[in-house]
Amino acid sequence: MSDAIQAPRGTLDWLPPRSGARRAMIAAFGARAERAGFREAQTPVFEEKGLFARTAGESSEVVGKEMYVFTDQGERELALRPEFTAGIVRAYLEHGLSREAQPVRLWSAGSCYRYAAVQRGRYREFTQVNAEAIGSDDPAVDAELIALQVGWFRELGLDGIEVRLNTIGDRADREPYLALLRAYLDEHLGDVDGDVSRQRELNPLRAFDTKDPASQAVMAGAPVIADHVGEAAAAHFAQVRAFLDARGIPYVLDPTLVRGLDYYSRTTWEVSWPELGAQSGIGGGGRYDGLAELIGGPPTPGVGFACGVERVLLALEAQERLPGAPSACDAFFMVLAAEARPALHALMEQARERGLACEADLAGRAAKGQMKQADRVGAARTVVCGDDEWARRVCLVRDMTSGEQVEVALDDLVGHLADAAGGAQA
Ligand code: AMP
Repeated sequence: MSDAIQAPRGTLDWLPPRSGARRAMIAAFGARAERAGFREAQTPVFEEKGLFARTAGESSEVVGKEMYVFTDQGERELALRPEFTAGIVRAYLEHGLSREAQPVRLWSAGSCYRYAAVQRGRYREFTQVNAEAIGSDDPAVDAELIALQVGWFRELGLDGIEVRLNTIGDRADREPYLALLRAYLDEHLGDVDGDVSRQRELNPLRAFDTKDPASQAVMAGAPVIADHVGEAAAAHFAQVRAFLDARGIPYVLDPTLVRGLDYYSRTTWEVSWPELGAQSGIGGGGRYDGLAELIGGPPTPGVGFACGVERVLLALEAQERLPGAPSACDAFFMVLAAEARPALHALMEQARERGLACEADLAGRAAKGQMKQADRVGAARTVVCGDDEWARRVCLVRDMTSGEQVEVALDDLVGHLADAAGGAQA
């Protein structure tokens, strides 16, 4: 198959039964975020290209190589969002959210787009769940975000995740450190690959992300930013760690963790599920206190994270913990008397109005086939109406677990089903 028509997204992830799991995962994330004071926000799928270019940095992998960019009929240069953060911060600045109680906490879920070589766990259209807290530099906020992310993984039943944590200091700390790093790279230019030498000019921090083994060996001896952060950033980091320790959230310190985007400052972290191999990154986040200024706003602290839903789904599937079993069916209507179908389908609709999940045969199946279908959808009860029952305006309601069967007048059927399913829907 040619690269041009290669599936841009993990197609099966968007179809049943996995589509149900996706929805359940995202719903669990939203509910958890809302319990922690986050509200939902959606930003446009496409925005002005400059928004992403200015914030993530022209030298970043995402902007330089992976962004989908196009010109519209009005000659505007637009981009499909590669991530949520820039759009959320833009919305915060443009729509007066800075006048609300701070920090403003927002969660989102939706598609993001990156031009990447498609493989298991890496798609060109993929889904992120995202959370941002804007307007406070309190280290407790960093810990709240990490706790929200880790809590979601825990709730989904994902075992064996790894949280790596670092601080990359404030922007002011970075210049003297970058000079040190450049000097170190200059001494080893003969031993690193072309990408790393280019990073030396553009953003030497990224040299830590190299996949080339020889370059990795060089970078293992490089000075690390965590040893060169200023007092304020170091104190902030110590407090973030104290909050995490008090909550019992395990993490490992990784002084080489710099993350791919230019806007990060202070805390950065990544979450991985190592068994996924090459695409083991299931989430990442960080503080971005300088981001709002890059898009023309006043200095505004912020911190946030994103998780890749498809990768989390793969990990859950590998552990046989995919959520969202097929939706429960309260009653399957086996209407064997053709004449009775309109009336029974009307009763089925009334039962749905009462909140019950009901289905009937829609494919002309004989009795045996209908029974099989009732089994397949996991029906709690069947409602059987043959010629004899129809003549007497009754039906047989059978409990599929106990096998118990009762005759119910059609006039009483909806009430009977609602009672049987428990008071909740009545
Ligand atoms: P990032 O914004 O690069 O930190 O990405 C956050 C998360 O999104 C990662 O940890 C991945 O789980 C997920 N992700 C990033 N790029 C892709 C992609 N091309 N396909 C699938 N998931 C992705």
